[in-house]
Amino acid sequence: MPHPHTADPLTNATPRRDLAGSVLVADELLGPDGSTTPCPAAELVAGELRRRGVTTVRGPLGMDDEPGAESGLAVLVDTGGRRTGLGVAAGGDDSGAWPAARATMAAWLAVAQPRTVLLASPRSFCAGVERAIDVVAHLLDRRGGPIYVRKQIVHNTHVVSDLESRGAVFVEELDEVPVGATVVFSAHGVSPAVHEEAARRELAVVDATCPLVAKVHAEARRFAGRGDTVILIGHAGHEEVEGTLGEAPASTVLVEDAADVADLRIDDPGRVSYLTQTTLAVDETAAVVTALQDKFPRLRGPASDDICYATTNRQNALKAIAEESDLVLVVGSANSSNSVRLVELAEREGTPAHLIDDAGDIRPEWLAGAGVIGLTAGASAPPRLVEAVIAALAGLGRVTRVEREITQEDIRFTLPSAAR
Ligand code: SF4
Repeated sequence: MPHPHTADPLTNATPRRDLAGSVLVADELLGPDGSTTPCPAAELVAGELRRRGVTTVRGPLGMDDEPGAESGLAVLVDTGGRRTGLGVAAGGDDSGAWPAARATMAAWLAVAQPRTVLLASPRSFCAGVERAIDVVAHLLDRRGGPIYVRKQIVHNTHVVSDLESRGAVFVEELDEVPVGATVVFSAHGVSPAVHEEAARRELAVVDATCPLVAKVHAEARRFAGRGDTVILIGHAGHEEVEGTLGEAPASTVLVEDAADVADLRIDDPGRVSYLTQTTLAVDETAAVVTALQDKFPRLRGPASDDICYATTNRQNALKAIAEESDLVLVVGSANSSNSVRLVELAEREGTPAHLIDDAGDIRPEWLAGAGVIGLTAGASAPPRLVEAVIAALAGLGRVTRVEREITQEDIRFTLPSAAR
């Protein structure tokens, strides 16, 4: 079962009768001689067990010299001069936890091997996301909780739960915010109607809308103000799109793709402008704009692209590594538009790709035969999650880390005055 170059034969570990239906996933292995071996792949093991419906706990696991232990298993992996381990123990009951633990260990050991991780750069946080998180963090530091935030401040489950643990309260709509309280608007922006409701409820608003989203709102007002029909290219239901549509709802129509363009009927085809969501796929959007230009030869657009620098850079950086990779992993949450676009881009480049919230989402079957893993992260995903993925993979065998930087980003946005 272990990979011949990287894993020692299985060593029994002390079974744990106190676990009662759950499985202990080892953070470190404690040898009979007092030695300790770290288990950096613990998150991988725990994630697979959770997918198999097993409750997990984390902690140290004692290795046992005696053969015959029936519900504990530990393996040492040689990762190129550094030994790491994988270990599980169950309670020895009939809950099914132990067979699941054994199968999980077998699945991960089957894909234990040395790997190269190709890191796309730029990746992870953009300036707009950093600013939005800083807004909430500064308010919490200065005023303490609760600080209300309308919608997720950025589309990332880890960012949201970190801020929640510090006192942020995330609400869907403003009627959940007590009258007179402070509320932060998320990086994705809101429509004028939301600002008006906040004023009616006498809320103290701190607007964390990304300046590059605010630019698109300003264009929507300007284009509609000169009498144009505004065609917004974007995804229906996305918060950013809802906010932009709200700037000139009577004058704006949403299209998602070239098929929507074909169906468009506009009263005055000579007065048409387009805008886009900031986080779209660059290539696909260009095709929609071309379809619009074909249909409306006098079409006007923004002076500079609405798809933002961060979205563009992350897509170009991924393109630079996708073809060389056996597998692409994109760190980001399922509701993160730019992260989902990265997965789609890698697939269009011909490489299997998966979106992961964190290392625990990686499935062993994805790694089979994958010696080169391309790794990136959407603009709302914290850099520490990327490092955690690399660390977890290093628990399965030596990892050679290769950075592929296509450009440097030095854009920073100042905080709104209310948050300074
Ligand atoms: S992805 Fe672009 S538009 Fe969105 S917050 Fe980041 S910089 Fe702003």
